[in-house]
Amino acid sequence: MVPIPPIRERLREQNPPAYAKIGIVTQKAHILGMTRAELAELVTGLGEPKYRADQVFRAVHEQRLRSFDEITNLPKAFRAKLAEVADISQMSVESRFLSTDGTRRYLMKTGAGKPVETVYLPTENRDTICFSSQSGCPLKCDFCLTAKLGLLGNLTAGEIVEQIVIVLNDVYGVGAETPHGTNLVGMGAGEPFLNFENLIAALRLMADEKGLFIVPNRVTVSTAGIVPRIDDLAQLEDRPHLAISLSAATDELRDRLMPINRKWDLDALMKAARNFERSLKRGERFTFEYVMLGGVNDSTEDARTLAELLKRYKLRRCKINLIPHNGAEQLDYSSSSPEAVAAFKDTLESLGVDAYVRTPRGRDIYAACGQLAAKAA
Ligand code: SAH
Repeated sequence: MVPIPPIRERLREQNPPAYAKIGIVTQKAHILGMTRAELAELVTGLGEPKYRADQVFRAVHEQRLRSFDEITNLPKAFRAKLAEVADISQMSVESRFLSTDGTRRYLMKTGAGKPVETVYLPTENRDTICFSSQSGCPLKCDFCLTAKLGLLGNLTAGEIVEQIVIVLNDVYGVGAETPHGTNLVGMGAGEPFLNFENLIAALRLMADEKGLFIVPNRVTVSTAGIVPRIDDLAQLEDRPHLAISLSAATDELRDRLMPINRKWDLDALMKAARNFERSLKRGERFTFEYVMLGGVNDSTEDARTLAELLKRYKLRRCKINLIPHNGAEQLDYSSSSPEAVAAFKDTLESLGVDAYVRTPRGRDIYAACGQLAAKAA
């Protein structure tokens, strides 16, 4: 009979070095959030050769397999060991809503039970997936429904990646190649630049050519104006495109609509935008988003003030996306009339500023901009 080892020995066996090194004692590691180097540490710690890390990476990112049992090129015993120390999935889909325009909204939950929303936006020639960076949001933009949730928590890199994996599997099926045109936008719930490290870590994992292979050029992240992180982004070689939510061209109005402006005012924000513009590559531009609120920020005078602001800071390589406000019962604002939106756009263009009107998507299922509030029905 084989003697049963003393308890401490057994624990050491169950806690192999790599497991201990990444500091996970009470919670399993999330494979989807680990770099290939971290995976190499994990697999070698479990007594397997390093090349197994690439096999695992490919299986969970490129093929988007969802359980260790499905990774059939790994020895069975190793799969069992992996499953003891790590998870491929730490998110569950609570519900999925389909809009009449084809948009899908997914209400997911993290392992800790926090709500996360992700939106799939199909168009004729390419698809866009809009992911969340936080559960809820700490910013108090007056026109946004997510603000009503407050901050429930930052998402881990693994939780950010898993949202996209879940959507891709739902749309194309497990194992199917990710279409080359797929774009990502960090415009779901939360302020991505208040979770900057996890955001960038997730984008790097998704850009890997042995994984999802969604390169930075196909990704746009949006910020309400976290100025120091705009400066950080300007310095990143492998950075995504930038969008800045502006929505007002005077401090007086922006202080009211987006309280983050009281911390970093328009002068600070425009200087950061100017600095970012200097770092743009050839032919690249960045975006300002402007939510059109009826009778609040949508007059032709407002359009002129906006054009002057851009001129004052010599911002030339930017465009303005005009987003008609998406209403909700808890929000006091109404959408600008189509005539006001058209006149606003014309005024900007007559002053040499490129402006585009965004068509609202998925309003009927609470999937449109500013409507993500973890609504379960
Ligand atoms: N916190 C980041 C990421 C969210 S992006 C940011 O603010 O940029 C979501 C976009 O939707 C932002 O541009 C925001 O200004 C816009 N938005 C918020 N509430 C909206 C609403 N009710 N209708 C239309 N757009 C809205």
